[in-house]
Amino acid sequence: MKILLVDDSKAVAMMTTARLESFGYEVTHAADGLSAIAQFQQNSFDLILMDIEMPGMNGFETTTRIRALEGHEPWAWTPIIFVTATDTATNVVTAIEAGGDDFISKMAPESVLQAKMKAMSRIAAMRARLAQANRKLQDQANRDGLTGLYNRRALDMHIDHLWDDAVRGGKPFSILMIDVDNFKKYNDHYGHLAGDDCLRAIANSLGTTVQQANADKIAAGTFVARYGGEEFCVVIPEASPGVHIGLASTLVENIAALQLPHEKNADWGVVTISVGAVCINPASEKVGALFRQADTLLYRAKEAGRNRVEAD
Ligand code: GH3
Ligand code: MG
Ligand code: MG
Ligand code: MG
Repeated sequence: MKILLVDDSKAVAMMTTARLESFGYEVTHAADGLSAIAQFQQNSFDLILMDIEMPGMNGFETTTRIRALEGHEPWAWTPIIFVTATDTATNVVTAIEAGGDDFISKMAPESVLQAKMKAMSRIAAMRARLAQANRKLQDQANRDGLTGLYNRRALDMHIDHLWDDAVRGGKPFSILMIDVDNFKKYNDHYGHLAGDDCLRAIANSLGTTVQQANADKIAAGTFVARYGGEEFCVVIPEASPGVHIGLASTLVENIAALQLPHEKNADWGVVTISVGAVCINPASEKVGALFRQADTLLYRAKEAGRNRVEAD
């Protein structure tokens, strides 16, 4: 457990630090309110032991300021225990109002300090588990169950933000709309379960190609999402001119190269995709217009015979 000990008295701080360290905890000392706040902003602590009487900013005010800096998630709440010589009624009320959780007397025997620390380390462990579970949930909420790619929700959440960045930076922004060719016929012929496997294989290939493009630094920040059904979308947040066409062609080639049999995909005999590729300089346009444009191009790729890219 990592503890931030806030106390203006060097002697008290040294003694308390020695006791806490003997219990096995890691202690950082701050000698006043301002340095406590600075420490809080730079590091993460499982517990704060806060002196009340300090010159300048007292413990209550320091606590109020720390609470204002905390996130709103339930696990962002760092327990704060006031260390005081006098736990008068007014002090208790003020402390709770300021955002404190408990009191401990400066005179408390070592066993009491140790017991309180034990209770706090249980809370710290629970907070850590809660934060981890939440991270996992967040990730699951952003992933498509079938393919493991980002889902439509994640795409929608990211796109406006990326678009705003592109508008500010004046950088070209590209999207690739990808659609599997004759996929209804694939399902009809091979069955829906085989269709699912096929979508997974396609997603895998798209993911690998995009990852490679990122690694090659030709399209940093590029990601692929399952747009819905047998449609996927690649977002290239800052593309040099032409990069979107090159990447789209590679995606098309790599899917055909998988050589997944698809008897009913006339002309090709294997699973193929078509891509509508748009790149624009985001000036006054809205991101929705970009998707409409990509859809139109995708439609043109289908009309032109599938297994190809149509770009602006
Ligand atoms: P086109 O080349 O013009 O795109 O023809 P298409 O048959 O691919 O297009 P259409 O939109 O008619 O059919 C899409 C098919 O994709 C229909 C639907 O059953 C199938 N599909 C969508 N989502 C899934 C899925 O999660 N699993 C499976 N197996 N099939 C899916
Ligand atoms: Mg003091
Ligand atoms: Mg479709
Ligand atoms: Mg299709």
